[in-house]
Amino acid sequence: MKKIQMVDLQSQYQHIKNEIDGAIQEVIDSCMFINGPAVKNFQEDLEKYLGVKHVIPCGNGTEALQVTMMALGLKPGDEVITSSFTFIATAEVIALLHLTPVLVDVDPETFNIDPDAVERAITPKTKAIVPVHLFGQCAPMEKLLDLAHKHNLYVIEDACQSIGADYYFENGRKSKAGTMGNAGCTSFFPSKNLGCYGDGGAVFTNDDELEKKLRVVVNHGMTVRYYHDYIGVNSRLDSIQAAILKVKLQYLDEYARKRQAVASFYDEAFKGNPKLKIPGRYYKSSHVFHQYTLVTNDVDRKGLMDHLASKGIPSAIYYPVPLHLQKAYLDPRYKSGDFPVTEMLCNSVISLPMHTEFDHEQLSHITGSVLEFINR
Ligand SMILES: *Cc1c(COP(=O)(O)O)cnc(C)c1O
Repeated sequence: MKKIQMVDLQSQYQHIKNEIDGAIQEVIDSCMFINGPAVKNFQEDLEKYLGVKHVIPCGNGTEALQVTMMALGLKPGDEVITSSFTFIATAEVIALLHLTPVLVDVDPETFNIDPDAVERAITPKTKAIVPVHLFGQCAPMEKLLDLAHKHNLYVIEDACQSIGADYYFENGRKSKAGTMGNAGCTSFFPSKNLGCYGDGGAVFTNDDELEKKLRVVVNHGMTVRYYHDYIGVNSRLDSIQAAILKVKLQYLDEYARKRQAVASFYDEAFKGNPKLKIPGRYYKSSHVFHQYTLVTNDVDRKGLMDHLASKGIPSAIYYPVPLHLQKAYLDPRYKSGDFPVTEMLCNSVISLPMHTEFDHEQLSHITGSVLEFINR
């Protein structure tokens, strides 16, 4: 049996090797490594795919969040509400810009931010909400957008794990993750659903003013060459990565279907098992399965992971520690017990291998090995 990996980038590359190699070679031949035509071409393709007016490529997903908060003019002391159950980058940039992160708990079914908790956390200092579309499924955007409208707040979507997911509005309209708020941020880190072969990221927006500001902020705050009207940063997507992404974007929907098929296979094996809760689906969103995450109940999780490892199966915990209990983010406002759902999830979730390249033998080996441990 082929070795099982959390993410199998090797096999994926082998299927598209000719196209990728050609795209890389073209950039090298042109020697336009920075802001070459490849970047513009990918940007335009992604705008079309997402149905969004502007894509602003940048260095990575973390910087996408950072430059967005800078371009929106958020100031020290402004409160930014986000999820207590997410990757650290979301809170990191808030802290880095001396904004005040305000954490709220999540829904135990979907792992996404709870809009009622968001509403309770709004104060006169609140300036923005950062919903994270965690594990490949959209947060409850309609409620969040309503709250933002009512309280005059920005919505910055962290779409790093959910590029390509569709959100279905009540009125029948459909939007891609990251295109509904004032801005959406994504990451092209190799293991993300649309991954490049290094670092990369982008901001999406339909706001023309914000787009102009973002393009300035990512380029040293420079409006006219060597005239700097703002303090900016250097955050670029390089041409080689853009050329790779242009190729891989064509396969994004196919890749999502493959991930969904893996999720269905896992669901079939685990549904109804009292010790394993399969990932809940939110009826207003499609799920592109960046991760397939089970919630265990009365299971020795470490024992399960060791058992899987002994069978050649990697697994992971996303995420073991809630943001408010991370050492660098300890804050007298928060203590253990404040976010019970997040804390329960951190103690009980396990993510199984998820990618686009499994064969049936591998998948049965994974589900069989999980059940062998669970049912003994
Ligand atoms: C990956 C990720 C980021 C950061 O992206 P990088 O490109 O690694 O900087 C931010 N938020 C979430 C939810 C992520 O999964």
